[in-house]
Amino acid sequence: MDLYEHQARELFAEHGIPVPRAEVTDSPGEARAVARRLGGSAVVKAQVKTGGRGKAGGVRLAADPAAAERTARQILGMDIRGHTVRTVMLAEPVDIADEFYVSYVLDRAAGRFLAIASAEGGMEIEEVAASRPEAVARVPVDPAEGVTSAKACEIADAAGLPAQCADVLVRLWQVLVREDALLVEVNPLVRTARGRVLALDGKVTLDDNARFRQARWGEEPGGHHDPLEAVAAARGLNYVKLDGEVGIIGNGAGLVMSTLDVVAGCGARPANFLDIGGGASARVMADGLSVILSDPAVRSVLVNVFGGITACDAVADGIVEALDTVRLTKPLVVRLDGNNAARGRAVLDERAHPLVEQVPTMDGAARRAAELAHTA
Ligand code: ADP
Ligand code: MG
Repeated sequence: MDLYEHQARELFAEHGIPVPRAEVTDSPGEARAVARRLGGSAVVKAQVKTGGRGKAGGVRLAADPAAAERTARQILGMDIRGHTVRTVMLAEPVDIADEFYVSYVLDRAAGRFLAIASAEGGMEIEEVAASRPEAVARVPVDPAEGVTSAKACEIADAAGLPAQCADVLVRLWQVLVREDALLVEVNPLVRTARGRVLALDGKVTLDDNARFRQARWGEEPGGHHDPLEAVAAARGLNYVKLDGEVGIIGNGAGLVMSTLDVVAGCGARPANFLDIGGGASARVMADGLSVILSDPAVRSVLVNVFGGITACDAVADGIVEALDTVRLTKPLVVRLDGNNAARGRAVLDERAHPLVEQVPTMDGAARRAAELAHTA
């Protein structure tokens, strides 16, 4: 999960990284009051989880409280790369002498972290990285050793940053580790005309696997970009929306992943990933089916279950019960194999729903579901 700039700023401040004074609001009138509290002028900043806000007109200097109110009114409601601005942060304007770039990112391939730093930070960092990669230093960080003062000096040195930045580099590493982040970025980290070093913009991406330890951020409102994913998440389903036409339900992430491949191999495109796990109760089956059937792109549904600990007749009972609560509107192909498969198939045969078809093999069932998707 990505944090908003103001949340990143809060974390930086808690870890002793200097940041400008700032407040967040969703009201232009309040923005005027905030500007007054900040001393009159303020930088009004759109709070959206995307970069390039400055270039998109989402970061603007307001010279006085009245201008802050007007600017906030303009920025609130703006669309920045598909993100609607719901709040703005007003920050104390800083007299910038130099803009630097610093970040730590997880380097999965190398199994360690990478410090990326440049003395030429700011809004043009992508261009700098593309046209003059030598202006951007990349220093591997061993996660077990972390960023000590010595390591921070090495990074600052490699990037040509003033030695003063080393302290921020050490603290930024502490943000990464203690907050369970996969990425922390400060751009720009600035040196003011008076020689102070301040973090003016921050991006933090938290590790979703550590969410249980970082409960303060709660569930991300609107974290599911897709409305079906949000519905599925609310019902506790492990569902990911994809853009094809064959709905998929399976038990076990590995089996579902290979089902997606096999369906694709049959010339169709999977509409989703849905792992119902070991349980496969009638309720889970009904919830899964109703989410999948409410996707207008779906033209057929494939249920692929390999009974290991889960017994196929229990899954078949679940499907039959689900058919009582969910109105099946599209053809359903079921493949049951493994533990109690024969009994499971008999249960479905007995139900004899006109839209339900059984195919005993995974390949055959995928082929049939693909065919139905193209003809149904
Ligand atoms: P983004 O990276 O999304 O464009 P930033 O927060 O980095 O947004 O702001 C863009 C630019 O605006 C910065 O590079 C900096 O030059 C300027 N800026 C941001 N905050 C302040 C501030 N508090 N005072 C002065 N200038 C600022
Ligand atoms: Mg920035």
